[in-house]
Amino acid sequence: MFRAILVEKNEAGQSVRVADVDESGLPAGDVLVRVERSTVNYKDALAITGKAPVIRKFPMIPGIDGAGEVIESTNASFKPGDRVLVNGFGVGESHWGCLGAKARLDGNWLVPVPSSFSATQAMAIGTAGYTAMLCVMALERHGVAPDKGEVLVTGAAGGVGSVAIALLAKLGYRVVASTGRAAEAPYLTGLGAAEVIDRAVLSAPGKPLQKERWAGVVDSVGSHTLANACATTRYGGTVAACGLAGGMDLPASVAPFILRGVTLAGVDSVMAPMAVRREAWQRLARDLDPARLAAMTREVPLAEAIPVAADLLGGKIRGRVVVDTTR
Ligand code: NDP
Repeated sequence: MFRAILVEKNEAGQSVRVADVDESGLPAGDVLVRVERSTVNYKDALAITGKAPVIRKFPMIPGIDGAGEVIESTNASFKPGDRVLVNGFGVGESHWGCLGAKARLDGNWLVPVPSSFSATQAMAIGTAGYTAMLCVMALERHGVAPDKGEVLVTGAAGGVGSVAIALLAKLGYRVVASTGRAAEAPYLTGLGAAEVIDRAVLSAPGKPLQKERWAGVVDSVGSHTLANACATTRYGGTVAACGLAGGMDLPASVAPFILRGVTLAGVDSVMAPMAVRREAWQRLARDLDPARLAAMTREVPLAEAIPVAADLLGGKIRGRVVVDTTR
């Protein structure tokens, strides 16, 4: 038996609790992992609260991210004792996830934990931080360099936003953080933001083309915020879009793309190819300041992931929350 968060569903609806789960119930997979740390991402919060139909199969152990040690493996690439992590691939959605002490996974989903990271640090990054890295890589791929101008980060005090600020600042960009939480300005400047703006400036409907400002944008908000980000991006700039915290719609025009050559770069972490994941994790080991990562992170025991999920969707969580699956 092992302890895990279990999401169940019956006629009355979805329920969630900490349960003792029989190991024989673990799904098929060629690697058994002792999960040491997991985390609560936006998608985990949707799964745990049932606010969106993230879970495809019940009962489900949620947790799209995990880091720990291989216990058993029939996969040639992994052996007992190896330190591994997983992000996405349907884990915690259609395959039992990592908000529990054990997970049986497909070895093709696993990435070695970079040697400089503990399990806690790997999960402080988690899918949110790995996605922030993918966004930075997308900007770089499209030629956004520090000397090209400012980079806007929306949803700044959230998980993706916090890691994006720390990465971009360390790489030498002038970062402008957009937040709805003015009280978090010292936190955001501590992560490396040069300026903090009120997200209300971006969240109302705006004109198709506005005064050019950003060389690049990392957007985790979507909707009018993404439309306004595109409309204020400079000629030839790039907007990396990864999230929908403000809405799934995109009430925009083609004007920024056809008149200013702006690129809208989509970023997906869930099914990203292994080579891209490995590159992103190597870059995180190089380009993320451990002190700033610690400053954006707090750790909670397993049961607390449940209230944290509701708080995250309520906009009350700053940065990242690591879950100690052994407590
Ligand atoms: P968080 O909840 O940690 O952060 C989201 C932030 O968005 C909040 O902290 C808040 O920032 C801002 N926000 C929330 N609601 C609104 C609103 N109504 N209008 C404007 N801003 C709002 O989530 P994550 O950072 O973990 O994830 C952010 C988004 O990215 C989610 O939509 C998630 O699904 C998506 N995502 C996508 C991935 C992919 O593969 N494409 C992977 C990971 C995440 P503030 O308080 O500073 O204003």
